[in-house]
Amino acid sequence: MARLDPHSYVDSDHPRARHLRLWLSVNFGARRLDGTAALELEAPAGGTLDLDTKELEILGVTTGREEPVAFELGDEQPILGRRLRLALPAGTREVRLRYRTSPDAPALQWLSPEQTAGGAHPFLFSQCQSIHARSLAPLPDTPRNRLTYEAEVEVPEPLGAVMSAGPAGDRAGERPGTRVLRFDMPQPIPPYLLALAVGRLEFRDLGPRSRVYAEPQTVEAAAYEFAGTEAMIATAEKLFGPYDWDRYDMLVLPPSFPYGGMENPRMTFLTPTVLAGDRSLVDVVAHELAHSWTGNLVTNADMDHFWLNEGFTVWAERRLLEALHGQEATVLSWAIGEKALEESMERFGKDSPLTRLRTDLAGTDPDDAFSSIPYEKGARFVALLEHAAGRDRFDRFMRRYMARFRFTSITTEEFLAFLEDEMPGLAAKLGASEWLYQPGLPANAPVFRSARLDGLVALAAGFPRGERPKAAEAARWSPAEMLVYLQDLPREIDHEGCAWLDATLGLTGRGNHEILVEWLTVAGAPTTSPPSRACARCCSRSAA
Ligand SMILES: [Zn+2]
Repeated sequence: MARLDPHSYVDSDHPRARHLRLWLSVNFGARRLDGTAALELEAPAGGTLDLDTKELEILGVTTGREEPVAFELGDEQPILGRRLRLALPAGTREVRLRYRTSPDAPALQWLSPEQTAGGAHPFLFSQCQSIHARSLAPLPDTPRNRLTYEAEVEVPEPLGAVMSAGPAGDRAGERPGTRVLRFDMPQPIPPYLLALAVGRLEFRDLGPRSRVYAEPQTVEAAAYEFAGTEAMIATAEKLFGPYDWDRYDMLVLPPSFPYGGMENPRMTFLTPTVLAGDRSLVDVVAHELAHSWTGNLVTNADMDHFWLNEGFTVWAERRLLEALHGQEATVLSWAIGEKALEESMERFGKDSPLTRLRTDLAGTDPDDAFSSIPYEKGARFVALLEHAAGRDRFDRFMRRYMARFRFTSITTEEFLAFLEDEMPGLAAKLGASEWLYQPGLPANAPVFRSARLDGLVALAAGFPRGERPKAAEAARWSPAEMLVYLQDLPREIDHEGCAWLDATLGLTGRGNHEILVEWLTVAGAPTTSPPSRACARCCSRSAA
């Protein structure tokens, strides 16, 4: 027995699944999916196969040749869910599982019409990271077991559906008033990147390989906001190599989407709070797009190596921003990230094992361990390697890293071995084991400074002494400059000072959600969506 992922029942000694065929019927009334999941095995096999499930009702299991398969659901474990143990007849190539999801499935958010922008139709979306795919379908829910997939989704008309996959046609459903949409994902993904959204959707093309989907009420604003997407993809390709996923589409979710963004391949999910009206929050797209290389192409083997996904992605996002907007703008992003890092270090305590990059989360729910540490400490470690190696050499290293491990899921130790092969001695020289295996932030962490950043920090610090930005000057500030200034303001500003800030900087009622949240913190107002949740999961800005 070899259970390699602390958050999965999958046993590496068991037969391995390589392809998933899903058939799903979306039942908004009962808030559940009725489904069949067919798992194709890598090679004909027999004997025991353990899968992950959470709150699934298993209705029946057969082989692809309709032979019955005996199964047994283990006891419910609070983090892992229930092990589904199958006894496969010899020579099994495919196993088919009929099942139903629960209305409380952690992967699925069922919105009533009132929770959408349109107000007329219900909406469903999934969020499978970190370990929730098992509540959408019975499967090997570990990034170590990558799967290609295809799906048919039956939805009530006039609703549409998108998945983290390419659209592959649609047809009238067997049941009146339904439509069946087909999807195909030919690249092997970790199961946490399985994604589905169902609702009243329209799309606008943004370029030859990208479009944005949203509710009809939001789609024009979304198309305006993300008009620069193709330029961003082209810039990313110059930095990191060819875009390997064919299309880069995005979905803007209804207002109740609780995350900044989720890098579902071919279909990034985004919060509508990025629709600032002035293209000032499209950096979230830079982060999600960068995941197409770091995270989706080269993936953490399990959640103990999450920094490989997020540290590299924050670093890549900032390289992308530097190429698009210059170094001054990027230093501001590092400064905003530093605040998030400090906040996480303070929350856990600098000696907490949760501040290590390589964690040990056996027995811990990955959602409870979520913080800015893998993002911002991880990005600083990657930047340290870049600075020490030199940019050209490090860029060549990154391209070889991605070529070597593309479409695989790796551990910190596999990364370290590759680093040692490519740049012998560098890890030891920089104290990589302290960075990876010890808590806190090592003393050789890179510092990101610029005259612009220093100026904003000094101006904010001078507020109690009466130093004020000129209104005309502040009007020209970028959203990042405004955010840095607000973050560095003292927290104890009196009513008069707050009134001056609000009137001069026009803060209340800003479309930019991050600025608004920071302003409400300065002004002492209770925020309904604290940054750590409003911008959680994947948005790397201020709070992710
Ligand atoms: Zn991310």
